[in-house]
Amino acid sequence: MNRKDAKSAKENAEGGGEGVNTEGETIWAISVKKVIAWSGCIVPRLHNYFLFAMISASSASLRFNCLCVFGFIFCGFAGLAWLLMLKGFLSRFNGATQQASIKVEDLGDGITAFRLHSRWTRMLGLEVSFYRVGDLLVDTGFAHASPLVLQALENATISAICCTHHHEDHTGNAGVLAERHGCPVVIYQPEHLETEGLDRLLPYRRLFWGMPGPFRADPMNERVVGREAELEVISAPGHSQTHVALFEPVSRTVFVGDLFVTPGASGVMTHENPYLLVESLRRVAALEPRRMLTGHGRDVHDPVGPLKGKADAIERAAAESQRLIEEGVRPRAVARRVFPKGRRKDRMLEILTQGEFSRLNFVRAAVKHGREQK
Ligand SMILES: [Zn+2]
Repeated sequence: MNRKDAKSAKENAEGGGEGVNTEGETIWAISVKKVIAWSGCIVPRLHNYFLFAMISASSASLRFNCLCVFGFIFCGFAGLAWLLMLKGFLSRFNGATQQASIKVEDLGDGITAFRLHSRWTRMLGLEVSFYRVGDLLVDTGFAHASPLVLQALENATISAICCTHHHEDHTGNAGVLAERHGCPVVIYQPEHLETEGLDRLLPYRRLFWGMPGPFRADPMNERVVGREAELEVISAPGHSQTHVALFEPVSRTVFVGDLFVTPGASGVMTHENPYLLVESLRRVAALEPRRMLTGHGRDVHDPVGPLKGKADAIERAAAESQRLIEEGVRPRAVARRVFPKGRRKDRMLEILTQGEFSRLNFVRAAVKHGREQK
């Protein structure tokens, strides 16, 4: 991290403000100014030569040729200036997506929460949270917030980075943090690192979270043991093949990543399996945790009821989806009947994510994996 990034990160870490990348803006502003300056020198001279050539031209065809040459040069300059302005606009747009903020919160029991936002996630009201438990880190946030995350953990001792799963909003800073703190990154079944869209991130995922840096992942065992804390690993697939819940037995806190983003049944990503989700939710509820900390900002005290309630809701929605499909109702109509509220938001998310996240996916997954279960 250079000094400019560090200063920006410090300001953000302290004040919860926005980190601004103005590099692209500066480059385009200078470039367009230069083109205008060149045009200011060259075009009037060309204009004079053009007028002279037009007046002294002996024939109409020569005049026409002069007009074409001048028009060609003028269009060339205009086109170049336009392209540079377009590049500048795109640079500003890209810089804006990287505006991120971080909020550090002491949750007690040796747990610290790091709440992240990028411009786009702020607009959608979607927060990304990662946690420090003693000297263990649970998830790492997304790559757009990299300088802020590095700054916030600059003086922390990190023995291991444990990822609840391998999606880029949870592992976006795993590589840079592992390098900075000289610690391992552990993931359940790391052989799946390149799956579930991570091999080729769709534009919305790049826009929201940024491209995660490369990192080496070690397999996660039944426990992750640090010098100051210990976490039990509970397999929790459904949202992701690599998904786990991490249970801290002293404070009875469970870290569930994306297993519990919203209460009740909801839209899912194309690779998700609602039946595995139900099993995972019940497995975590069986731990009888006192507190549940999620990957997207939801802290739930006494979470057993909400966990079981979500499992029941998913089970009901999946059964209803299967029943309606068997009756011959079309999948999109099934989605509308199973999820009667919030259709507009779901449609917007479906378009934005190019169909990777939707309630329609839930219906399709309920039918596909329901058949597998029979
Ligand atoms: Zn995820």
